[in-house]
Formats: sequence, structure tokens, C-alpha cells
Amino acid sequence: MGGVRGAKGLEIIMKFQERSFLVKEGYLRRGDRKRFYPFVFEVPEGIGEIRVKFSYSPRILKNKEKNYQMIGGAIEEYVKDYPQKEKVSTFLTLIKDAYPLRNLLNLSLYDAKGSFVGRWDQNSERPVRVSSTYSSPGFTSCKIIPGFWKVEMETHAIVTEECKYRLEISSIQRTNGENFSSFKKKLINSSSYRDNKGWYRGELHVHSHHSDGKNTLPEIIEGTKREGLDFIALTDHNTVSGFSSIPMREDLLIIRGMEFTTYYGHALALGITSFIDWHSKERMRNINDIIDEVHSQKGLFAIAHPFCIGDPVCSGCTWKLRNIDYQKVDLIEVWAGCWKNRKIENYKSFRLWDKLLNRGLKVVGISGRDWHDVNERKSDGIPKTFVYADSLSEDEIL
Ligand SMILES: [Zn+2]
Ligand SMILES: [Zn+2]
Repeated sequence: MGGVRGAKGLEIIMKFQERSFLVKEGYLRRGDRKRFYPFVFEVPEGIGEIRVKFSYSPRILKNKEKNYQMIGGAIEEYVKDYPQKEKVSTFLTLIKDAYPLRNLLNLSLYDAKGSFVGRWDQNSERPVRVSSTYSSPGFTSCKIIPGFWKVEMETHAIVTEECKYRLEISSIQRTNGENFSSFKKKLINSSSYRDNKGWYRGELHVHSHHSDGKNTLPEIIEGTKREGLDFIALTDHNTVSGFSSIPMREDLLIIRGMEFTTYYGHALALGITSFIDWHSKERMRNINDIIDEVHSQKGLFAIAHPFCIGDPVCSGCTWKLRNIDYQKVDLIEVWAGCWKNRKIENYKSFRLWDKLLNRGLKVVGISGRDWHDVNERKSDGIPKTFVYADSLSEDEIL
């Protein structure tokens, strides 16, 4: 029997039968943010598919006064140490973009061996499906092995007094004739190869519908053509489920990446081959161990938008992991997003980069558009990263 310990210590005993369910409901308060809530459930033999349905409400903070008060606090922190006087219009844009504040909960799913299966992002209330032959965006198809599986709820932001969540897990029995041995993970070495020495231009920070991006990979590829890019990095939040749909192309290199989206900062892993978790046993892992794991996969580690506006506007988006060993850092985003809107944080990022270089560290400055929608029509002040390389391949660009 699987024991499920809820956020308030409730114990629910359940066992799957044919199409049986685990239902867990609970309430979270503001103080419950930045925590992990594990729900363990037992999957018996003969299950062909697992479905996870998750929802929470309210999604937004409705109280106007509370919104302005909390947004004001985040803006105060954001402009701190910026030496120039800013125009009122800059503050009005920041408030407009932040309003209303949002709750943000996510789920990670692990199989009976403890392997990561995928991540539920906030955009969809449709049930997530995982089987050996199919998986919803954000998840990787895998054999449904019997044993104790785990869902871990991540409470990135809770801005309302109370937030009610509902988790529902159901299973579908294996149908006769389904052949599990046919399951094979697709592995690719590089999605493109162009054997010319020269400057290549790209975007190293792109989100797809595998996390909170608006576009599928084919749509992103169309968008990159319009922008004249040679390479992009697919960097979905805490998942690599998009890797299996990266096509081989001659005109575009798609680098395998991921954005570590932690409670205390975001970072890109570029050129990795498999998923790297940022938390373990309901705690955040030490950031230096995470970087070592990126390097062991021959990937590069980049701090993303280090001075982005933070809690509770963009929860966890400001870099606060002070114990990081900067000697291990390969890259840093010094130009995040559109210059006009984000020059305050970019100024601070340049200053940090300068400080690191003066310490003799070999950290490379890069840009990151943090692309979530390739159809947005913004071209003013949008950066691109240029790389001089012997050829257009993942190894050479990185
Ligand atoms: Zn980010
Ligand atoms: Zn991002």
C-alpha cells in the first residue's frame, strides 16, 4: 500500500486498481512557498499509462492594494544600486508587467526507480499522460514500472492568503499486445553540421511548450528563420523532454539545454545530454554540485538574468545563491531581454561580469532573449549572441 503524506501531514492510503485514483487536496499559505511536497503512490503490475491532473486556485492576487504594496517592494529591490535616476515611465512599465501577482506551483514526476519522468508547468490544466509510447509535453515516455512512484509539488510562489491545490492521479491498465520492448530513447549527437569557419549568430535561451513557452519546436524553427539565426539552445524550465523532438537540419543547430529554475536563481545548462535535477530528497541541491554534473556531461553552465526582478513578481528569478564558486561558471547573461525594458538589471549584470573578469576568471558574457513566444513582434533592443567557430556544430559553438 502506498502512503501519501500531504502538505498538512494527512495520510491517505491508496492502491491502484483498474482506473482507480489518488486524489489529494490541500491548502497552502504564503509561508508554504519555496518548499517541496512529496506524494508517493504505488503503481501495481500491468499499468499501461499514468495520468496526472493538477490544478490550483486562486491563480492571481485580486486585492489591488496588496498587489501594489508587494510589487513596490520587488521594484525597490530591483532598482537598488542603480546609479542613474530612472524615468517614471520605467516604473509604470514594471508595475504594468507585474500586475496582477500570480501563484506558481509546479510538479515533478519520478518513476519507481527514482528517475525523473517530467514536469508539469502552469499553463495546462489538462491531464498529463505518460506511457511507453506517448507523453504529454514536459514529460518523457517511459515504461510504467510497478512500484512506488512520486510526485513532488514545488511551491515557487504563493502570493494569496490561501491557495487550494488538487492533485489527481489515475492509471490505465495495459492493453493486451502492447510491446514494451519497442521503447527506445532517441539519442542524437548534434542536430546540424556546417563545415565553415566563421561567425554564427544565435539565441541561447528559448522555451517551448515543454515548459511555459507558447510554441512547438516546428514553430520555433520557423521563428528562427525569420530572425536569421544559425543556432538556438532549447532551454525549457527543469525538463529535457523536448530533446527527443529535435530534428536534424542543415540550416539550424539546436543545442540541447535546460533552464534550472530554482527558488533562488535561474541558470542554463547548455550542451547536456540528459536531465539534471536541481532538488533531491525534498531539498535544493548545492549549486556547485549541480555545476559539476553539468560539466560531467560536457555541458556549460550559464547564470541567467542574474538581476531580474525577483519575488513575488518573478519568483526565484534573481540570483541569490551566494555560495556559488564562480570559478566553475562558464557563462553569464549580461544582456537579458529587450534593452529598453531591462537596462537596469543589464547594467548590474555587466558590473558583475566586469568584477569577475577583474578577478581573473574566464567567464564569457552572453545574451539571452528568454524567448517564450516566437511570434511576439519585438525587434528593438533585442540581443543576439555571436560565436566564431570552426563549424556549426554543438561541440564547436560551445
Ligand atoms: Zn529564467
Ligand atoms: Zn527562461
